[in-house]
Amino acid sequence: MSGRTNRIKDYLSALFAPEDDILLAIKKQAKEARLPSIQVASPVGKLLYTLIKIHKPHKILEIGTLAGYSTVWMARALPPEGRIITLELYPEHVALAKKNIAMAGLESMIEIREGFASEQLDRMIEQEEGPFDLIFIDADKRNYPLYLEKVLQLSRSGTLILSDNLIPKGENIGTPQPNHPEGVSIYQFNELIASHPRLESILTPTIVGSMGRIDALGISLVK
Ligand code: SAH
Ligand code: MG
Repeated sequence: MSGRTNRIKDYLSALFAPEDDILLAIKKQAKEARLPSIQVASPVGKLLYTLIKIHKPHKILEIGTLAGYSTVWMARALPPEGRIITLELYPEHVALAKKNIAMAGLESMIEIREGFASEQLDRMIEQEEGPFDLIFIDADKRNYPLYLEKVLQLSRSGTLILSDNLIPKGENIGTPQPNHPEGVSIYQFNELIASHPRLESILTPTIVGSMGRIDALGISLVK
């Protein structure tokens, strides 16, 4: 099974989401700096790009920068006046992402803020920095339910909230092992976005990782 899904992933990557030298260099730099290889797969990058082309946001908020790979996919879909604020906890990730974003020539569009995302989000709510037109949640999975509560305060009717990695590892789909806190939080998050009175949501399956695992990207539209 995973052989076939992996071949589908490679097919999608090669035909619809080929990476240029800059995207390849970002991944190479991340690997050399020993960052975890957990950036979105290129077809997911292209899906983000396409959703941005359709939705036409000007203000994007990203939670979880890593080396800036998904940030660059998204910025490339924006018009010149578009802006992305991206939140990242670790200084080493911030430093590399800054370098990568400069290499991509996108530094005028992207602002990286360092620190705990929950604290950054509280500050943004207090400073009334919203509403954002599109929000991409892709950081520590245990805080997804908390991030949802906070990003809704930075949203308006029509904001698109995208959330990565909504099918956790493991065979029990929908009912995680109680000793798997990330899985518990993700399935709790899925139930929240499925039934939230302010959201209309769907998960779209994605194929990720070198083994071609099935994961999902959440797409939620704020009513
Ligand atoms: N969006 C990126 C991948 C992000 S990986 C891409 O696809 O290219 C998740 C990132 O979230 C990691 O860089 C990790 O350091 C960061 N992170 C983890 N916990 C965090 C927190 N509490 N606040 C902010 N960032 C956090
Ligand atoms: Mg992810």
